[in-house]
Amino acid sequence: MDVIGIDESQFFTDLYEFCCNAADHDGKTVIVAGLDGDYSRRSFGSVLEIIPLADTITKLTARCELCGKRAFFTLRKTDEKQTELIGGADVYMPVCRQHYVNGQAVMEATRVVLESHKFQNDQIVVAAAFI
Ligand SMILES: [Zn+2]
Repeated sequence: MDVIGIDESQFFTDLYEFCCNAADHDGKTVIVAGLDGDYSRRSFGSVLEIIPLADTITKLTARCELCGKRAFFTLRKTDEKQTELIGGADVYMPVCRQHYVNGQAVMEATRVVLESHKFQNDQIVVAAAFI
């Protein structure tokens, strides 16, 4: 084989070493696809580390699910915090910059309201226990 394709490259821990060996030493053409950033727009895995190895880079985008503009980011629709949370359209949504920022504000407001509501419910339970 002359060409090696790697998809979901953000999940490969040996990406840099593998690409370096395959391209530099074995003469392979390596085509890598993956997410450069996670849901919080932080570097995801070692995808950004292989950019200096690459001959060319193409940044692809999806379409914003809310307005149809180019979607550069991923909005996580749940309150989970771990970087790797496997899911599809039920968990993630491609969004443009405007809807990413608005979405983060909505998620934070929702969290504040839910935590406040939970606290009020705890107070009610405690109050009921003393009656
Ligand atoms: Zn949008």
